Amino acid sequence: MTYQTTEFSDFSSELTSSKEMTDAVLTLLRGMGEDPNREGLLDTPKRVVKMYKELTAGYSKSEVEVINGAIFTVEHHDIVVVEDIPFYSLCEHHMLPFFGTCTIAYLPNGRVLGLSKFARVVELFARGLQVQERMTEEIADCIQRHLEAEGVAVFVEAQHLCMAMRGVQKPHAKMRTRTYRGCFVNDQLKKNDLIQAMRS
Ligand SMILES: [Zn+2]
Repeated sequence: MTYQTTEFSDFSSELTSSKEMTDAVLTLLRGMGEDPNREGLLDTPKRVVKMYKELTAGYSKSEVEVINGAIFTVEHHDIVVVEDIPFYSLCEHHMLPFFGTCTIAYLPNGRVLGLSKFARVVELFARGLQVQERMTEEIADCIQRHLEAEGVAVFVEAQHLCMAMRGVQKPHAKMRTRTYRGCFVNDQLKKNDLIQAMRS
């Protein structure tokens, strides 16, 4: 009985928040000078709410759930590079997309992560309101936390639509961010290895 009540209240709060979100989109449409009742816009509020839930799906997932037991004991002690993982995120200042690629490199310390999980980790942090710098750091921290690698490096290159289609209106400008953990922070030899591994 308690379980049912909880389930029901979760469900109804979910409904309430969707309704509030839909109303907010209606308000936006009216504020733009649109008629939300015209044919093409009738389902737009519902579609927009559904879309934002999809684009911010990272909020409802946990790191553990995403990594889900895909850490394997492997005696591999050279740098692993997972290159050019595509991602789409939303800038938290304008809620406009920024998108590009993320490259993750790590020096394992007896533990490796299943290949597809790198893409899932990027997705976890991209699917929300973000700034590129913080997303880069969060991906590195997550990989380091779960793999306890000797070193981790994360590189992100992205185009920001808030810079391309508004403000200074500079399309195609790219922002690159990078961050290092463990041995790549101070060990110049390991860092040189990393640069070499990235080039080959
Ligand atoms: Zn922005």
